Amino acid sequence: MDHQSVQVPLPPHVLVFPLPIQGHMNSMLKLAELLCLGNLHVTMLVSDFSHSRLLRHTSVHSHFARYPGFRFRTIPDGLPDDHPRAGERLMDIMPSIKSVTAPLFRDMMIGANFLGTGTRRPVTCIIADGILSFAGDFAIERGIPYISFRTASACSFWAYYCIPEIIEADEIPLKGNGMDLPVKSVPGMEGFLRRRDLPSFCRVDEVNNPNLQLVQTETRKSFRAQALIKNTFDELEGPILSQIRAHCPNLFSVGPLHAHLKARLATETKSFSTSSGSFWEEDRSCMTWLDSQKSKSVIYVSFGSITVVTRDQLMEFWYGLVNSEQRFLWVMRPDSVAGKDGESQIPMELVEGTKERGYMVEWAPQEEVLAHPAVGGFLTHSGWNSTLESIVLGVPMACWPYFADQTTNSRFVSEVWKIGLDMKDTCDRVIIEKIVRDLMDIKKDEFQERANQMAKLAKRAVCEGGSSYCNLDRLIKYITSMIE
Ligand code: UDP
Repeated sequence: MDHQSVQVPLPPHVLVFPLPIQGHMNSMLKLAELLCLGNLHVTMLVSDFSHSRLLRHTSVHSHFARYPGFRFRTIPDGLPDDHPRAGERLMDIMPSIKSVTAPLFRDMMIGANFLGTGTRRPVTCIIADGILSFAGDFAIERGIPYISFRTASACSFWAYYCIPEIIEADEIPLKGNGMDLPVKSVPGMEGFLRRRDLPSFCRVDEVNNPNLQLVQTETRKSFRAQALIKNTFDELEGPILSQIRAHCPNLFSVGPLHAHLKARLATETKSFSTSSGSFWEEDRSCMTWLDSQKSKSVIYVSFGSITVVTRDQLMEFWYGLVNSEQRFLWVMRPDSVAGKDGESQIPMELVEGTKERGYMVEWAPQEEVLAHPAVGGFLTHSGWNSTLESIVLGVPMACWPYFADQTTNSRFVSEVWKIGLDMKDTCDRVIIEKIVRDLMDIKKDEFQERANQMAKLAKRAVCEGGSSYCNLDRLIKYITSMIE
């Protein structure tokens, strides 16, 4: 036998394509790295804008250099560079992607022979963000196996899936002041879901509202995929995952992805470090500040990468925090306050209270902050990544959801998992002060105990033999079986 002619077959080649915003990118980058650890080839397709932010603020390129099978490819998102891609203007990205990115994606894939080279197969599987259904259209048309990855919680995804039934039951559109009425048409959530807890896109006067239509159709289209990936774990969202599995049995719950990646890297001999996918420069000075604070004495305040608050809301939060007399570390992105005018004065008592007990940064190394022993609570907008990061580290939450899945996530935090408090639809200094005191002081022990239990379950899920660990192995085998 001529040994020279025996060729090792090329591994499967996965195209990973996230919606180009921070939260979606974070979890899909982690998934991409986990696939690399499973010896798959990965092309990560990101927007020019997000790629330039990654280059500027992270070491993502040198980090991924250890995986010869990994590469980035970029594509325009169709928005001008100075577009904020946050707050009320965030949703501009959807029509822009549809009209600009979608046709470019098709041209790029065809022009590059579906991205194959001498050393890599043409893509053998497309894992596209569930909100980018045009990538699924392309995959189906060309006969490429297609997996849909919805980055948000299973509970919000399931609520989106049920929108036609919710409309049928007349539970949306929301009329008058029925926000506290129970929602009966989302199976598995009948006992605790109110109309105000539905994903915020359901807060409409008309059922033909374009954003409601968009999430409804994109969600239904996710089910055309051969499989679904969710960044969650069975012990957290088991009953809801079962509901989804009834419609798509090929469901891989592999989260929390950030912890999963850490766990897998820790068993590698090469390196333990993970790379941040931050679009902003992390201000590490807050870690030194935390070092000088007492154990579990600090509430970490961050509303993620998209939330924009009004100046009035900012003042309510600020007074609430200062009046609570707790120590706080607050992330205030430069673009996070609407209509901020440099001339308005900050009242003296806030300046003094902050000097005494607070610290502010524009962007923090969040996972490290949450892992710091001085942090005892998290005032959060209930973004799914932030929620999972807090769960893994056993940090109880005070939730002030801003939009999308966050309004549902926060209900699960307070009513199902009971690891925090939900103050959605209020923004009042007296309520904020009370919630912060309850979380950090009065009800601290009960929340901490349950948060510790949930953290244990999360860690177990991503360790060898755990539910997410086994599901990821299954996913990699499944992707490999596509070329056999
Ligand atoms: N994040 C961070 N530093 C900050 C604030 C947020 O690294 O100062 C990260 C956070 O760890 C999370 C992501 O940004 O991974 C925010 O995602 P999430 O889904 O919570 O909210 P979104 O930004 O999508 O609203």
